[in-house]
Amino acid sequence: MKANKIIETLKNYEAGKPIELVVREFGIAPEDVVKLASNENPKGTNPAVLKAIIDSAHKAHLYPDDSMYALKEALAKRYAVEPNEIIIGAGSDQVLDFIARAFLNEQSSVLMSQVTFAMYEIYAKQLGAKIIRTPSYQHRVDEFIEAYQLHHPKIVYICTPNNPTGDAISKADVLKIIEAVDEETLVVVDGAYMEYASAKDDRFSIAPKDLMIYPNVIYLGTFSKAYALGGMRIGYGIAPHALIQTLSKVRPPFNITTLSMVAAVEALKDQDFVHDSIALHSQEIERYEAFARDHGINYIDSYTNFITYILRDGQSSTQIANRLLEKGVIIRDLASYGMNALRITVGTPIQNDIFFRKYLEVAH
Ligand SMILES: *Cc1c(COP(=O)(O)O)cnc(C)c1O
Repeated sequence: MKANKIIETLKNYEAGKPIELVVREFGIAPEDVVKLASNENPKGTNPAVLKAIIDSAHKAHLYPDDSMYALKEALAKRYAVEPNEIIIGAGSDQVLDFIARAFLNEQSSVLMSQVTFAMYEIYAKQLGAKIIRTPSYQHRVDEFIEAYQLHHPKIVYICTPNNPTGDAISKADVLKIIEAVDEETLVVVDGAYMEYASAKDDRFSIAPKDLMIYPNVIYLGTFSKAYALGGMRIGYGIAPHALIQTLSKVRPPFNITTLSMVAAVEALKDQDFVHDSIALHSQEIERYEAFARDHGINYIDSYTNFITYILRDGQSSTQIANRLLEKGVIIRDLASYGMNALRITVGTPIQNDIFFRKYLEVAH
């Protein structure tokens, strides 16, 4: 049976491989599998959040509060905006879906960097929009402005810090791109890893509030990374009220579960957990940098919770990723992004020890 023509031509998003797959295919015990492929927080679920989830589990028979009052209030307070300037999604992924459906059609084009978050392309293509990419994998202001002037895309996606490369663009440069586009173009600033970038270098720190003077800009954030709630599926968009109102028209009712909302509200209260996560990360990523230097591997300076190793000619990222997989270490091969590179989520000290050891066993 044939689906819509546009859908027939789409590729599926390749999610990080689950632990269960490695257990099944290679007979490795689950406790011996090290998953460093999906940029999850290695500290695990915050115990205070876990308790809040359990305490609310008895409300499972009731629909969630569709106004999402408590979560919007908490986010509004944290980011110094109004609750009506916030939209909540099942992950910021879902907000990206709302954005595409609200603004794109078969006459539209969208602009993004050469190597960036795969879902921008997937959602845009579902609507029949044309994809335009800048030449560099980094976000370069001049390349964005030149491509904008040439194509007048409906949406410009800025992913900072960028997944899957880990680099970031300064706030000053983001503002230059925003200033260069007219108000009929929506600029999406995806800050999924912003907590890590802000901790590393103030020049790369962008707060939603910084962008609120622009009617055509939306900031996206998520609870999946620094807040360690990837499994609960909560993200948000922050933008002027009129833009939020437009996006709300395509939001299905009850798109977030009661337990997800409780978890997010609780997680926001515990900023110490976020600080500790970033402190652990900062310490461990230095080991990845030292390991790369010691073994002649190039890496991209990272503003995220992962690091991207660029392999030299003669090495194959796909081969190394597959060999690691057979040894129970799941990382991300970037060959499908056109890069001979590996993206490794920085794990716990023990997970990282295992990665270093197995990497040396498989890479020649
Ligand atoms: C992880 C990620 C997201 C969103 O993740 P959700 O789990 O859907 O909130 C968005 N953008 C980028 C660049 C990401 O890496």
